[in-house]
Amino acid sequence: MSIKVRIPTPLRPIVGGEAALQIKAETVIAVLDQIEKDHPGFKSRICDDAGKTRRFVNIFVNSEDIRYLDGMKTALQDGDTVSIVPAVAGGIQTYQERLAGLKKTLKEIAPEDVQKMIGGKEKVTLIDVRESEEYRGGHLPFAVSVPRGFLEMRIEEAATDRAAPLVLYCAGGIRSLFATETLKNMGYTSVVSMSGGFSGWTRKGFSIETPTLLSEKDRRRYSRHLLIPEVGEEGQIKLLKSKVLIIGAGGLGCPAAYYLAAAGCGTLGLVDFDVVDESNLQRQILHTTDRVGTSKIKSAMQTLSAFNGDVRIIPFEERISSSNIERIMQAFDIVVDGSDNFPTRYLVNDACVKLKKPCVHGSVYRFEGQVTVFDPQRGGPCYRCLYKEPPPPELAPSCADAGVLGVLPGVIGLLEAVETVKLILEIGDPLIGRVVCYDALEGSFQTFILRKDPACDYCKEGAVFPGFIDYDYFCASKGLTTPSPS
Ligand SMILES: [Zn+2]
Repeated sequence: MSIKVRIPTPLRPIVGGEAALQIKAETVIAVLDQIEKDHPGFKSRICDDAGKTRRFVNIFVNSEDIRYLDGMKTALQDGDTVSIVPAVAGGIQTYQERLAGLKKTLKEIAPEDVQKMIGGKEKVTLIDVRESEEYRGGHLPFAVSVPRGFLEMRIEEAATDRAAPLVLYCAGGIRSLFATETLKNMGYTSVVSMSGGFSGWTRKGFSIETPTLLSEKDRRRYSRHLLIPEVGEEGQIKLLKSKVLIIGAGGLGCPAAYYLAAAGCGTLGLVDFDVVDESNLQRQILHTTDRVGTSKIKSAMQTLSAFNGDVRIIPFEERISSSNIERIMQAFDIVVDGSDNFPTRYLVNDACVKLKKPCVHGSVYRFEGQVTVFDPQRGGPCYRCLYKEPPPPELAPSCADAGVLGVLPGVIGLLEAVETVKLILEIGDPLIGRVVCYDALEGSFQTFILRKDPACDYCKEGAVFPGFIDYDYFCASKGLTTPSPS
Protein backbone atom coordinates (compact mmCIF):
# COMPACT_ATOMS: atom_id res chain seq x y z
CA MET A 1 0.00 0.00 0.00
CA SER A 2 1.57 3.27 -1.08
CA ILE A 3 0.77 6.58 0.53
CA LYS A 4 1.85 9.95 -0.78
CA VAL A 5 3.02 12.26 2.04
CA ARG A 6 3.24 15.99 1.35
CA ILE A 7 6.04 17.62 3.28
CA PRO A 8 5.73 21.32 4.23
CA THR A 9 8.62 23.56 3.25
CA PRO A 10 10.08 24.03 6.76
CA LEU A 11 10.42 20.23 7.17
CA ARG A 12 11.85 19.52 3.76
CA PRO A 13 15.49 19.92 4.87
CA ILE A 14 14.97 16.97 7.22
CA VAL A 15 13.80 14.70 4.40
CA GLY A 16 16.50 15.64 1.96
CA GLY A 17 14.60 18.51 0.37
CA GLU A 18 11.76 16.35 -0.88
CA ALA A 19 8.31 17.98 -1.29
CA ALA A 20 6.60 14.59 -1.13
CA LEU A 21 7.48 11.06 -0.06
CA GLN A 22 5.97 7.72 -0.94
CA ILE A 23 5.53 5.67 2.23
CA LYS A 24 4.16 2.21 2.82
CA ALA A 25 1.95 2.32 5.90
CA GLU A 26 -1.62 1.59 7.02
CA THR A 27 -2.29 4.41 9.48
CA VAL A 28 -1.23 8.02 9.88
CA ILE A 29 0.91 7.24 12.91
CA ALA A 30 2.62 4.46 10.97
CA VAL A 31 3.42 6.98 8.24
CA LEU A 32 5.09 9.30 10.75
CA ASP A 33 6.97 6.44 12.41
CA GLN A 34 8.28 5.30 9.05
CA ILE A 35 9.49 8.79 8.10
CA GLU A 36 11.08 9.15 11.54
CA LYS A 37 12.95 5.90 10.99
CA ASP A 38 14.34 7.15 7.69
CA HIS A 39 14.80 10.77 8.77
CA PRO A 40 15.34 11.10 12.54
CA GLY A 41 13.95 14.30 14.13
CA PHE A 42 10.98 14.53 11.79
CA LYS A 43 8.26 13.27 14.09
CA SER A 44 9.13 15.49 17.04
CA ARG A 45 8.42 18.52 14.85
CA ILE A 46 4.88 17.32 14.37
CA CYS A 47 4.00 15.49 17.58
CA ASP A 48 4.54 16.31 21.23
CA ASP A 49 6.00 13.82 23.71
CA ALA A 50 2.59 12.25 24.24
CA GLY A 51 2.33 11.53 20.55
CA LYS A 52 -0.37 14.17 19.93
CA THR A 53 -0.23 16.52 16.98
CA ARG A 54 1.26 19.84 17.99
CA ARG A 55 -1.22 22.70 18.13
CA PHE A 56 0.21 24.50 15.15
CA VAL A 57 0.19 21.48 12.87
CA ASN A 58 -2.80 19.93 11.14
CA ILE A 59 -2.73 16.66 9.29
CA PHE A 60 -5.10 15.94 6.45
CA VAL A 61 -5.86 12.63 4.79
CA ASN A 62 -6.86 13.66 1.30
CA SER A 63 -9.10 16.64 2.14
CA GLU A 64 -10.14 15.61 5.65
CA ASP A 65 -8.57 16.82 8.88
CA ILE A 66 -7.61 13.72 10.90
CA ARG A 67 -9.08 15.30 14.04
CA TYR A 68 -12.45 14.62 12.47
CA LEU A 69 -11.46 11.10 11.43
CA ASP A 70 -9.68 8.70 13.78
CA GLY A 71 -6.80 11.02 14.63
CA MET A 72 -3.39 9.42 14.41
CA LYS A 73 -5.03 6.03 14.08
CA THR A 74 -6.86 7.03 10.92
CA ALA A 75 -6.63 4.12 8.49
CA LEU A 76 -5.22 4.72 5.03
CA GLN A 77 -6.09 3.31 1.64
CA ASP A 78 -3.74 2.70 -1.18
CA GLY A 79 -3.24 5.95 -3.12
CA ASP A 80 -4.23 8.24 -0.22
CA THR A 81 -2.42 11.53 0.28
CA VAL A 82 -1.34 12.62 3.74
CA SER A 83 -0.69 16.38 3.98
CA ILE A 84 1.13 17.93 6.89
CA VAL A 85 0.04 21.56 7.21
CA PRO A 86 1.55 23.84 9.82
CA ALA A 87 -1.44 26.03 10.53
CA VAL A 88 0.21 29.30 11.39
CA ALA A 89 3.41 29.25 9.40
CA GLY A 90 3.26 31.69 6.53
CA GLY A 91 4.41 30.93 3.05
CA ILE A 92 3.60 27.28 3.06
CA GLN A 93 0.07 27.45 1.90
CA THR A 94 -1.26 30.04 -0.41
CA TYR A 95 -3.82 32.35 1.11
CA GLN A 96 -6.58 30.54 -0.76
CA GLU A 97 -5.43 27.13 0.50
CA ARG A 98 -5.22 28.34 4.03
CA LEU A 99 -8.66 29.94 3.87
CA ALA A 100 -10.15 26.81 2.39
CA GLY A 101 -8.59 24.82 5.25
CA LEU A 102 -10.05 27.15 7.85
CA LYS A 103 -13.48 27.04 6.26
CA LYS A 104 -13.35 23.29 6.58
CA THR A 105 -12.16 23.12 10.16
CA LEU A 106 -13.75 26.13 11.86
CA LYS A 107 -17.39 26.67 12.66
CA GLU A 108 -19.20 29.51 10.96
CA ILE A 109 -22.57 30.84 11.96
CA ALA A 110 -25.13 32.67 9.82
CA PRO A 111 -26.23 36.24 10.69
CA GLU A 112 -29.79 35.07 11.39
CA ASP A 113 -28.49 32.62 14.01
CA VAL A 114 -26.42 35.36 15.61
CA GLN A 115 -29.55 37.51 15.69
CA LYS A 116 -31.35 34.72 17.57
CA MET A 117 -28.41 34.35 19.98
CA ILE A 118 -28.48 38.06 20.85
CA GLY A 119 -32.11 37.78 21.90
CA GLY A 120 -31.66 34.34 23.45
CA LYS A 121 -31.27 33.20 27.02
CA GLU A 122 -27.60 32.27 26.88
CA LYS A 123 -25.21 35.19 27.11
CA VAL A 124 -23.09 35.54 24.02
CA THR A 125 -20.19 37.93 23.54
CA LEU A 126 -19.89 39.58 20.14
CA ILE A 127 -16.44 40.68 19.12
CA ASP A 128 -15.97 43.07 16.21
CA VAL A 129 -12.46 42.37 14.87
CA ARG A 130 -12.50 45.13 12.26
CA GLU A 131 -10.38 48.27 12.57
CA SER A 132 -11.58 50.92 15.04
CA GLU A 133 -12.62 53.26 12.21
CA GLU A 134 -14.85 50.56 10.75
CA TYR A 135 -16.41 49.89 14.15
CA ARG A 136 -17.10 53.59 14.61
CA GLY A 137 -19.03 53.60 11.36
CA GLY A 138 -21.59 51.20 12.85
CA HIS A 139 -21.55 47.79 14.50
CA LEU A 140 -23.76 44.96 15.73
CA PRO A 141 -25.73 45.76 18.90
CA PHE A 142 -23.69 45.04 22.06
CA ALA A 143 -20.57 44.19 20.03
CA VAL A 144 -17.21 44.93 21.62
CA SER A 145 -14.43 46.29 19.43
CA VAL A 146 -11.20 44.27 19.48
CA PRO A 147 -9.37 44.96 16.20
CA ARG A 148 -7.65 41.88 14.88
CA GLY A 149 -4.26 43.55 15.22
CA PHE A 150 -4.83 43.75 18.99
CA LEU A 151 -6.69 40.46 19.32
CA GLU A 152 -4.17 38.48 21.37
CA MET A 153 -3.43 41.49 23.58
CA ARG A 154 -6.98 42.58 24.37
CA ILE A 155 -9.24 39.55 24.06
CA GLU A 156 -8.81 38.50 27.69
CA GLU A 157 -10.32 41.80 28.83
CA ALA A 158 -13.30 41.42 26.50
CA ALA A 159 -13.88 37.69 27.04
CA THR A 160 -12.74 36.39 30.40
CA ASP A 161 -14.37 32.96 30.22
CA ARG A 162 -12.71 30.81 27.59
CA ALA A 163 -15.58 28.36 27.53
CA ALA A 164 -18.34 30.97 27.07
CA PRO A 165 -19.94 31.46 23.64
CA LEU A 166 -18.06 33.96 21.53
CA VAL A 167 -19.02 35.17 18.05
CA LEU A 168 -16.45 37.03 15.97
CA TYR A 169 -17.29 39.08 12.92
CA CYS A 170 -15.54 41.38 10.49
CA ALA A 171 -16.69 43.11 7.32
CA GLY A 172 -17.13 40.06 5.12
CA GLY A 173 -16.32 36.98 7.21
CA ILE A 174 -12.66 36.40 6.30
CA ARG A 175 -10.71 38.27 8.96
CA SER A 176 -13.00 36.85 11.64
CA LEU A 177 -12.25 33.35 10.41
CA PHE A 178 -8.53 33.87 10.88
CA ALA A 179 -9.24 35.50 14.24
CA THR A 180 -11.31 32.46 15.24
CA GLU A 181 -8.33 30.24 14.54
CA THR A 182 -6.15 32.47 16.71
CA LEU A 183 -8.59 32.30 19.61
CA LYS A 184 -8.93 28.53 19.28
CA ASN A 185 -5.17 28.33 19.62
CA MET A 186 -5.45 30.52 22.72
CA GLY A 187 -7.83 28.01 24.29
CA TYR A 188 -11.22 29.55 23.51
CA THR A 189 -13.42 26.51 23.04
CA SER A 190 -16.73 28.03 22.01
CA VAL A 191 -15.67 30.57 19.42
CA VAL A 192 -17.33 30.86 16.00
CA SER A 193 -17.10 33.26 13.09
CA MET A 194 -20.15 34.96 11.58
CA SER A 195 -20.31 34.22 7.86
CA GLY A 196 -20.82 37.19 5.59
CA GLY A 197 -19.64 39.58 8.33
CA PHE A 198 -21.10 43.02 8.91
CA SER A 199 -22.14 43.33 5.24
CA GLY A 200 -24.08 40.08 5.48
CA TRP A 201 -25.72 41.32 8.66
CA THR A 202 -26.84 44.64 7.16
CA ARG A 203 -27.99 42.93 3.95
CA LYS A 204 -30.44 40.95 6.09
CA GLY A 205 -31.76 44.25 7.41
CA PHE A 206 -30.80 43.53 11.04
CA SER A 207 -30.33 46.50 13.33
CA ILE A 208 -26.96 48.12 13.95
CA GLU A 209 -25.66 50.62 16.44
CA THR A 210 -23.79 53.68 15.33
CA PRO A 211 -21.64 55.03 18.11
CA THR A 212 -21.51 58.76 18.77
CA LEU A 213 -18.30 60.10 17.37
CA LEU A 214 -15.88 62.48 18.98
CA SER A 215 -15.08 65.52 16.88
CA GLU A 216 -11.48 66.07 15.78
CA LYS A 217 -11.30 68.95 18.23
CA ASP A 218 -12.42 66.71 21.11
CA ARG A 219 -9.97 64.02 20.04
CA ARG A 220 -7.17 66.53 20.38
CA ARG A 221 -8.38 68.06 23.62
CA TYR A 222 -9.00 64.71 25.36
CA SER A 223 -6.24 62.73 23.66
CA ARG A 224 -4.68 61.77 27.02
CA HIS A 225 -7.99 60.20 28.01
CA LEU A 226 -8.23 58.36 24.70
CA LEU A 227 -4.89 56.73 25.42
CA ILE A 228 -6.22 55.04 28.58
CA PRO A 229 -8.13 51.86 27.70
CA GLU A 230 -10.43 52.34 30.71
CA VAL A 231 -11.56 55.70 29.32
CA GLY A 232 -11.00 55.68 25.57
CA GLU A 233 -13.41 57.20 23.09
CA GLU A 234 -16.40 55.47 24.66
CA GLY A 235 -15.53 56.82 28.10
CA GLN A 236 -14.93 60.34 26.81
CA ILE A 237 -18.33 60.27 25.17
CA LYS A 238 -19.83 59.20 28.52
CA LEU A 239 -18.09 62.15 30.18
CA LEU A 240 -19.32 64.57 27.52
CA LYS A 241 -22.86 63.29 27.96
CA SER A 242 -22.71 63.35 31.76
CA LYS A 243 -24.70 65.80 33.87
CA VAL A 244 -23.23 66.61 37.26
CA LEU A 245 -24.79 68.93 39.83
CA ILE A 246 -22.36 70.67 42.17
CA ILE A 247 -23.83 72.02 45.38
CA GLY A 248 -21.86 75.11 46.37
CA ALA A 249 -19.30 77.12 44.38
CA GLY A 250 -17.02 77.29 47.43
CA GLY A 251 -13.93 75.56 48.74
CA LEU A 252 -14.98 72.06 47.59
CA GLY A 253 -17.17 73.00 44.64
CA CYS A 254 -14.52 75.19 42.98
CA PRO A 255 -11.77 72.57 42.55
CA ALA A 256 -14.31 69.82 41.80
CA ALA A 257 -16.00 71.93 39.10
CA TYR A 258 -12.65 73.05 37.66
CA TYR A 259 -11.38 69.52 37.13
CA LEU A 260 -14.72 68.11 36.04
CA ALA A 261 -14.82 70.81 33.37
CA ALA A 262 -11.25 69.91 32.43
CA ALA A 263 -12.19 66.22 32.14
CA GLY A 264 -14.96 67.17 29.72
CA CYS A 265 -18.05 66.60 31.87
CA GLY A 266 -20.54 67.96 29.39
CA THR A 267 -23.08 69.55 31.70
CA LEU A 268 -22.32 71.04 35.10
CA GLY A 269 -25.05 72.44 37.32
CA LEU A 270 -23.86 74.93 39.93
CA VAL A 271 -25.88 75.93 42.99
CA ASP A 272 -24.89 78.93 45.11
CA PHE A 273 -26.62 82.12 46.14
CA ASP A 274 -23.67 83.91 47.77
CA VAL A 275 -21.31 86.64 46.59
CA VAL A 276 -17.52 86.42 46.45
CA ASP A 277 -15.93 87.56 49.69
CA GLU A 278 -12.28 88.48 50.01
CA SER A 279 -11.81 85.73 52.63
CA ASN A 280 -13.05 83.13 50.08
CA LEU A 281 -10.05 83.63 47.81
CA GLN A 282 -7.74 81.66 50.13
CA ARG A 283 -9.28 78.46 48.66
CA GLN A 284 -12.11 79.17 46.20
CA ILE A 285 -10.02 79.05 43.08
CA LEU A 286 -12.69 79.85 40.49
CA HIS A 287 -13.03 83.40 41.82
CA THR A 288 -10.65 86.34 41.46
CA THR A 289 -9.80 89.46 43.44
CA ASP A 290 -11.57 91.78 41.01
CA ARG A 291 -14.79 89.81 41.42
CA VAL A 292 -15.11 90.39 45.18
CA GLY A 293 -18.68 91.44 45.88
CA THR A 294 -20.09 89.89 42.68
CA SER A 295 -22.15 86.71 42.34
CA LYS A 296 -20.24 83.49 42.98
CA ILE A 297 -22.23 81.69 40.32
CA LYS A 298 -21.44 84.29 37.66
CA SER A 299 -17.79 84.33 38.71
CA ALA A 300 -17.57 80.53 38.55
CA MET A 301 -19.27 80.45 35.14
CA GLN A 302 -16.88 83.06 33.80
CA THR A 303 -13.81 81.06 34.83
CA LEU A 304 -15.16 77.68 33.72
CA SER A 305 -16.38 78.97 30.33
CA ALA A 306 -13.01 80.55 29.62
CA PHE A 307 -11.31 77.30 30.57
CA ASN A 308 -13.51 74.92 28.59
CA GLY A 309 -16.14 76.58 26.45
CA ASP A 310 -17.70 73.27 25.47
CA VAL A 311 -19.00 72.60 28.96
CA ARG A 312 -22.60 73.65 29.40
CA ILE A 313 -23.08 75.30 32.77
CA ILE A 314 -26.53 75.51 34.29
CA PRO A 315 -26.63 78.09 37.09
CA PHE A 316 -28.96 77.93 40.08
CA GLU A 317 -28.51 81.17 41.96
CA GLU A 318 -30.74 80.27 44.85
CA ARG A 319 -30.59 78.87 48.37
CA ILE A 320 -31.53 75.20 48.43
CA SER A 321 -34.73 74.40 50.27
CA SER A 322 -37.41 71.73 50.35
CA SER A 323 -39.37 73.71 47.77
CA ASN A 324 -36.71 73.85 45.03
CA ILE A 325 -34.37 70.91 45.58
CA GLU A 326 -36.23 68.39 43.43
CA ARG A 327 -36.55 70.84 40.55
CA ILE A 328 -32.83 71.67 40.76
CA MET A 329 -31.68 68.07 40.99
CA GLN A 330 -34.03 66.45 38.51
CA ALA A 331 -32.02 66.68 35.29
CA PHE A 332 -28.69 65.51 36.73
CA ASP A 333 -27.12 62.04 36.99
CA ILE A 334 -24.75 62.62 39.90
CA VAL A 335 -24.71 65.15 42.75
CA VAL A 336 -21.46 66.46 44.23
CA ASP A 337 -22.07 67.83 47.69
CA GLY A 338 -19.73 70.70 48.49
CA SER A 339 -22.11 72.48 50.82
CA ASP A 340 -21.16 74.14 54.09
CA ASN A 341 -24.13 73.59 56.38
CA PHE A 342 -26.28 70.86 57.86
CA PRO A 343 -29.69 71.93 56.45
CA THR A 344 -28.32 71.68 52.90
CA ARG A 345 -26.49 68.40 53.53
CA TYR A 346 -29.66 66.75 54.79
CA LEU A 347 -31.81 68.16 51.99
CA VAL A 348 -29.25 67.00 49.42
CA ASN A 349 -29.09 63.54 50.98
CA ASP A 350 -32.85 63.14 51.21
CA ALA A 351 -33.42 64.34 47.65
CA CYS A 352 -30.68 62.03 46.32
CA VAL A 353 -32.31 59.07 48.08
CA LYS A 354 -35.75 60.05 46.79
CA LEU A 355 -34.60 60.67 43.21
CA LYS A 356 -32.20 57.67 43.26
CA LYS A 357 -29.07 59.66 42.45
CA PRO A 358 -25.59 58.95 43.81
CA CYS A 359 -24.24 61.69 46.06
CA VAL A 360 -20.50 62.32 46.20
CA HIS A 361 -19.93 63.73 49.64
CA GLY A 362 -16.94 65.76 50.83
CA SER A 363 -16.30 67.77 53.95
CA VAL A 364 -13.32 69.58 55.45
CA TYR A 365 -12.35 70.98 58.82
CA ARG A 366 -9.03 72.68 59.57
CA PHE A 367 -6.48 70.02 58.52
CA GLU A 368 -8.84 67.09 57.98
CA GLY A 369 -11.18 66.04 55.25
CA GLN A 370 -13.50 63.20 54.32
CA VAL A 371 -14.86 61.81 51.09
CA THR A 372 -17.46 59.13 50.48
CA VAL A 373 -20.20 58.23 48.01
CA PHE A 374 -23.75 57.80 49.27
CA ASP A 375 -25.62 55.48 46.95
CA PRO A 376 -28.26 53.31 48.66
CA GLN A 377 -29.28 52.11 45.17
CA ARG A 378 -26.04 50.21 45.07
CA GLY A 379 -26.13 48.83 48.58
CA GLY A 380 -24.35 51.64 50.40
CA PRO A 381 -25.62 53.80 53.25
CA CYS A 382 -27.07 57.31 53.00
CA TYR A 383 -26.05 60.25 55.17
CA ARG A 384 -28.93 59.55 57.52
CA CYS A 385 -27.81 55.94 58.03
CA LEU A 386 -24.74 57.45 59.69
CA TYR A 387 -26.24 60.55 61.30
CA LYS A 388 -29.97 60.30 61.67
CA GLU A 389 -30.40 64.01 62.45
CA PRO A 390 -28.24 67.11 62.65
CA PRO A 391 -27.14 68.33 66.07
CA PRO A 392 -29.40 71.01 67.57
CA PRO A 393 -28.27 74.59 66.87
CA GLU A 394 -27.33 75.22 70.51
CA LEU A 395 -24.72 72.44 70.33
CA ALA A 396 -23.17 73.77 67.15
CA PRO A 397 -20.16 75.98 67.84
CA SER A 398 -19.79 79.29 66.11
CA CYS A 399 -18.67 79.56 62.50
CA ALA A 400 -15.67 81.60 63.53
CA ASP A 401 -14.08 78.38 64.84
CA ALA A 402 -14.43 76.60 61.57
CA GLY A 403 -11.17 77.57 59.92
CA VAL A 404 -9.59 75.50 57.23
CA LEU A 405 -6.17 75.18 55.66
CA GLY A 406 -6.75 76.74 52.23
CA VAL A 407 -5.20 73.88 50.27
CA LEU A 408 -7.20 71.16 52.00
CA PRO A 409 -10.54 71.66 50.19
CA GLY A 410 -8.50 71.36 47.01
CA VAL A 411 -7.46 67.83 47.96
CA ILE A 412 -10.95 66.80 49.08
CA GLY A 413 -12.78 68.55 46.21
CA LEU A 414 -10.52 66.76 43.74
CA LEU A 415 -11.14 63.40 45.41
CA GLU A 416 -14.83 64.15 44.93
CA ALA A 417 -14.12 64.87 41.25
CA VAL A 418 -12.22 61.57 40.94
CA GLU A 419 -15.13 59.64 42.46
CA THR A 420 -17.54 61.43 40.14
CA VAL A 421 -15.50 60.52 37.05
CA LYS A 422 -15.31 56.88 38.25
CA LEU A 423 -19.09 56.79 38.59
CA ILE A 424 -19.57 58.27 35.11
CA LEU A 425 -17.11 55.85 33.53
CA GLU A 426 -18.28 52.92 35.67
CA ILE A 427 -14.72 51.96 36.49
CA GLY A 428 -12.90 51.02 39.68
CA ASP A 429 -14.41 50.73 43.15
CA PRO A 430 -16.40 53.82 44.04
CA LEU A 431 -16.30 54.89 47.69
CA ILE A 432 -19.75 53.43 48.32
CA GLY A 433 -19.88 52.15 51.90
CA ARG A 434 -16.38 53.48 52.58
CA VAL A 435 -15.10 56.85 53.72
CA VAL A 436 -11.60 58.13 53.05
CA CYS A 437 -10.29 60.40 55.81
CA TYR A 438 -7.31 62.62 55.05
CA ASP A 439 -5.19 64.11 57.81
CA ALA A 440 -3.00 66.78 56.25
CA LEU A 441 -0.75 67.24 59.28
CA GLU A 442 -0.12 63.52 59.62
CA GLY A 443 0.08 63.12 55.87
CA SER A 444 -2.17 60.08 56.07
CA PHE A 445 -5.18 58.65 54.33
CA GLN A 446 -7.37 56.15 56.18
CA THR A 447 -10.36 54.25 54.88
CA PHE A 448 -13.26 53.21 57.10
CA ILE A 449 -16.22 50.99 56.30
CA LEU A 450 -19.62 52.67 56.48
CA ARG A 451 -22.65 50.43 57.00
CA LYS A 452 -26.20 50.89 55.87
CA ASP A 453 -28.73 51.21 58.69
CA PRO A 454 -31.42 48.60 57.91
CA ALA A 455 -33.88 50.74 59.87
CA CYS A 456 -33.05 54.04 58.10
CA ASP A 457 -36.32 55.87 57.48
CA TYR A 458 -35.07 57.21 54.17
CA CYS A 459 -33.23 54.40 52.44
CA LYS A 460 -34.35 51.12 54.05
CA GLU A 461 -35.99 48.64 51.74
CA GLY A 462 -39.58 49.58 50.93
CA ALA A 463 -39.21 52.95 52.68
CA VAL A 464 -41.96 55.46 52.04
CA PHE A 465 -40.27 58.84 51.61
CA PRO A 466 -40.87 60.68 54.91
CA GLY A 467 -40.69 64.14 53.30
CA PHE A 468 -38.11 66.92 53.25
CA ILE A 469 -37.17 68.75 56.42
CA ASP A 470 -36.04 72.39 56.41
CA TYR A 471 -33.72 72.53 59.40
CA ASP A 472 -32.77 75.92 60.84
CA TYR A 473 -29.55 77.27 59.39
CA PHE A 474 -26.78 77.25 61.91
CA CYS A 475 -23.13 76.53 61.95
CA ALA A 476 -21.22 73.62 63.46
CA SER A 477 -17.52 73.01 63.56
CA LYS A 478 -16.88 69.86 65.53
CA GLY A 479 -17.37 66.15 65.12
CA LEU A 480 -17.17 63.74 62.20
CA THR A 481 -19.89 65.48 60.20
CA THR A 482 -18.44 68.91 60.55
CA PRO A 483 -19.42 70.89 57.51
CA SER A 484 -16.83 72.72 55.57
CA PRO A 485 -16.44 76.46 55.77
CA SER A 486 -16.47 76.52 52.02
ZN1 LIG B 1 -30.10 55.63 54.95
